[in-house]
Formats: sequence, structure tokens, C-alpha cells
Amino acid sequence: MAETQIEWTDSTWNPVAGCSIVTAGCTHCYAMEMAKRLEAMGIEKYAGLTRKTGKRTVWNGVVREDREALLVPYGWKKPRKIFVNSMSDLFHERVSDAFILDVWKVRA
Ligand code: SF4
Repeated sequence: MAETQIEWTDSTWNPVAGCSIVTAGCTHCYAMEMAKRLEAMGIEKYAGLTRKTGKRTVWNGVVREDREALLVPYGWKKPRKIFVNSMSDLFHERVSDAFILDVWKVRA
């Protein structure tokens, strides 16, 4: 999907977008601000996933399964290290078991 500047991976692949703050470890989740920026850039997949609270942008609990994203890895010609779901939690309670299974089938 996207080349990345994250040093420990080659690309990100995001079959799911959106999340919820579930622990203190989520407080400074970079993906919340990133989702807001991507929405402002007109990327539909990230529209409506966050809300403002004070000066902060936080997830609003909307989680979007992206079936088109499941096809992306089939276009990769060379092996690479993939950060799966850099913009969500694949195992969020709103991600269906059927969709998780479909992600697993792509990985296999
Ligand atoms: S993406 Fe990860 S760190 Fe960010 S809110 Fe979801 S579970 Fe927490």
C-alpha cells in the first residue's frame, strides 16, 4: 500500500481504518492525528473517524473495514516487511471475524 519512513518496516498495509482508545497506552496514538490529516487531504477511507476534544484529536469509535485494501498485497512483486494495520487495531471489537479471516488468507 504505502511506502513508509518507519525504519523497521518496508510498507504499511491498512485493511482497517479507525479505532478506539482502550488503554493508557493509546493516549498518544499517532494514528488519530494522522487520520485527521488524511481526512483533510480528501482520503475517503479516513473520513469521520475522529473527533476533537479540547485541542486533541481522538478516535470516535468508527471502524472501517476496507475490502479493496485486501487486494493490495497481490500487486507487490518483491517480498517486503509489512506493518499490518498501522492505522487501527485489526482485532478491534468492531472488526468482524470474517474480515479478520480474510486478512489472514491474504497473509498466507
Ligand atoms: S491503533 Fe493501537 S494504540 Fe492506537 S488507539 Fe488503537 S489500539 Fe490504541
